[in-house]
Amino acid sequence: MENRKYAGIVIDQTHPSLDKLFHYAIPKEMTEQAQIGIRVQVPFGSRSLQGYILTLDDKVEIPKDKIKPIKKLLDPVPALDPSIIPLIIWMKEEYHCMLIEAIRCFIPPGLRLNMKGKTQKVAMLQETDTLDDWIHQVEGRSPNMAAILRILGQVDRMPVRELLDMAGASSSSIRSLEKRGFILLEDEEIYRNPWTIQQGQTEAPELNEEQVHASYVINQCIAEGRGIVLLRGVTGSGKTEVYMKAAEEVLKHERQVIVLVPEISLTPQTVNRFKGRFGENVAILHSRLSLGERYDEWRRIRHNEVSIVVGARSAVFAPLENLGLIILDEAHEDSYKSDVRPRYHTREVAAKRCELSKAVLVLGSATPALEDYYKAKIGEYHLVEMENRAEDQPLPPVETVDMRRELEMGNRSMFSNDLYRALEQTLKRNEQSILLINRRGYAQFVSCRSCGHVIKCTHCDVSLTYHSRGQALKCHYCGYHEGYPRVCPECGSKYIKNFGLGTQKVEEELQNLFPTARLLRMDFDTTSTKGAHHRILDAFEKKEYDILLGTQMVAKGLDFPNVTLVGVLAADASLNLPDYRSSEKTFQLITQVAGRTGRGMKPGRVVVQSYQPEHYSIQHASHHDYTGFFKKELDIRRQFAYPPFSHIIRVLITGEDEKEVAQYAKNMLKWVNEKVNTDEALKSGLVDLGVFEAPILRINNKYRWQVLIRIEQGTHHIKEAWHCLSESLIRRFYREDVTVTLDFNPLSLI
Ligand code: ADP
Ligand code: ZN
Ligand code: ZN
Repeated sequence: MENRKYAGIVIDQTHPSLDKLFHYAIPKEMTEQAQIGIRVQVPFGSRSLQGYILTLDDKVEIPKDKIKPIKKLLDPVPALDPSIIPLIIWMKEEYHCMLIEAIRCFIPPGLRLNMKGKTQKVAMLQETDTLDDWIHQVEGRSPNMAAILRILGQVDRMPVRELLDMAGASSSSIRSLEKRGFILLEDEEIYRNPWTIQQGQTEAPELNEEQVHASYVINQCIAEGRGIVLLRGVTGSGKTEVYMKAAEEVLKHERQVIVLVPEISLTPQTVNRFKGRFGENVAILHSRLSLGERYDEWRRIRHNEVSIVVGARSAVFAPLENLGLIILDEAHEDSYKSDVRPRYHTREVAAKRCELSKAVLVLGSATPALEDYYKAKIGEYHLVEMENRAEDQPLPPVETVDMRRELEMGNRSMFSNDLYRALEQTLKRNEQSILLINRRGYAQFVSCRSCGHVIKCTHCDVSLTYHSRGQALKCHYCGYHEGYPRVCPECGSKYIKNFGLGTQKVEEELQNLFPTARLLRMDFDTTSTKGAHHRILDAFEKKEYDILLGTQMVAKGLDFPNVTLVGVLAADASLNLPDYRSSEKTFQLITQVAGRTGRGMKPGRVVVQSYQPEHYSIQHASHHDYTGFFKKELDIRRQFAYPPFSHIIRVLITGEDEKEVAQYAKNMLKWVNEKVNTDEALKSGLVDLGVFEAPILRINNKYRWQVLIRIEQGTHHIKEAWHCLSESLIRRFYREDVTVTLDFNPLSLI
């Protein structure tokens, strides 16, 4: 690379006024090493700050005497690979974040804190040809020194500590061998190992026909160096084997792989399988690692010591230089969207990164997000479908229970007769059960326990949300509100309420019904300590418990052959979230949890309790019918112009003064309205526009309002126009006491 005189540097401070390149001179002695992506120390005003070189330039606009020199280069190799820079710039534009916010995604916190990596001394021979001669020279005087030389003759290199142990020698022998020029000592980095679960090497099974076809499609993309493949495979169809096959293929081409899972602690089995197949060649990256572990894994990757990175969403930023494949497992999961700035979606970043690196993206799921399946159907993605389980086990039959009937028959318990019997039988057979308590959306909507009626907005197809403040029901999409009803407007029953259902309450009742059953609870409370997830899943796998009950956590990726019953309590709770995706979320949840049973040789069974079992989400889920659900749901989205037929732009405004925040939001709306009225592109793409209180009005003493904009999914031009508007909106409305956050297609409007 040629050497340049100046560098454009991003300062490592998050302030909008610093969100640009500052130019510095590169001192002569640094020209060799001052490359793009390297971390530097620079004078800034009266301070000395860290930054990153993003450009190298021959000349700059600023007068020569005003330009200051870089003080110091902070790392021997650039922390950012130059191939990453276009991705950083794309993130800034796509997510309206500052450059430094995008850069920090790629940097482990340990590096910014100048954490020191641990090292150890290793010894090796200077020459191997003259070994016998050297041994002869020292043998008479020191048998220990000779022993050291003999050991080193048999291995390439060895840590000094081990070497001394083996030779029974002391460090003075090492020093004198070094002095004579016989051996060489080097510092070698040592890494903390964040993954202690031992797993023996496993062999790949022979792929079945559907898997062979899936691999064929993926391999073709790998050969072409591009493409997005949506792999829809029913639970247990062997998607993970397909991922590993694809990874092998990419390794053959000497390229590297990122495997993303929704949450590491909930999917230890996936990680284990990759570790088992690829061993030391796998690094693990996720946010629950300690700073040191994370830093070490990052260095292992940066120094090209591994070819496969497995991790949660932040692993999409892993510093691999020759990326050939990204796999997004359970690609429909919401945890792939960042809920802090920058509010990126992992799938979008992965797609862009693959495009830039000529790599292939595989999205895998039993229940793909509607948007993804739609894209596959219209030809933007390759679509591969696996309809059968890997060893042809049948998908478990799903029975739905109507809880309104149970109430009519006088059963006021949270367990229906069917579920009670099923649990009893499973216990008798010494098999295990999983019980999902669907708490999503609980105590938020209002429904009738007699007829199942849910109070909905008259203008939108979403349920109203209960607000304790003022005892009101409100719509989060259009702002409509009404009073809390005394009786059901549909049937007149007084059993209408917003009821809650806690995991603890379920556990108590279950223990009363089955006093000898061994119960294991997995929810927010029991998993707050480090390693808790793992301990719980491990104990269940070892059959120390009969029933695992919990929230959404128990629905994901588990593969336990002894589980023959899955029960779902309040399956419809999530149907009533004030969210256009509530049907989709419910369908996914039931399908996923049903997939946890019948995976071994024994047949499985699923019992789903609900107040509206006739709802299409529950019906299609109970028939394992993804495509049927997709058709129905897509029609509804089209009818109401929700994604994928529109984009939602959400501008969240927060601040401590309630009136101020509201006024500010209203002003913003007015401004946007004026812009829209003078610009044809904006106007033609607008579906609707409004300003509302956020559903949770106050968090951490900050009041929250939002401007919601829905635009047509139409042309690129329209999206661009709205992007431009949003960008200037953020700059124009920047203020110290009010925070403005922009989110494209937010997954939640809370
Ligand atoms: P998914 O990820 O689609 O839920 P998995 O990859 O976990 O499915 O596979 C389900 C089970 O079937 C696993 O226990 C796996 O080891 C096994 N399996 C997958 N493919 C094969 C195959 N071709 N032959 C035999 N067993 C397989
Ligand atoms: Zn009713
Ligand atoms: Zn509404």
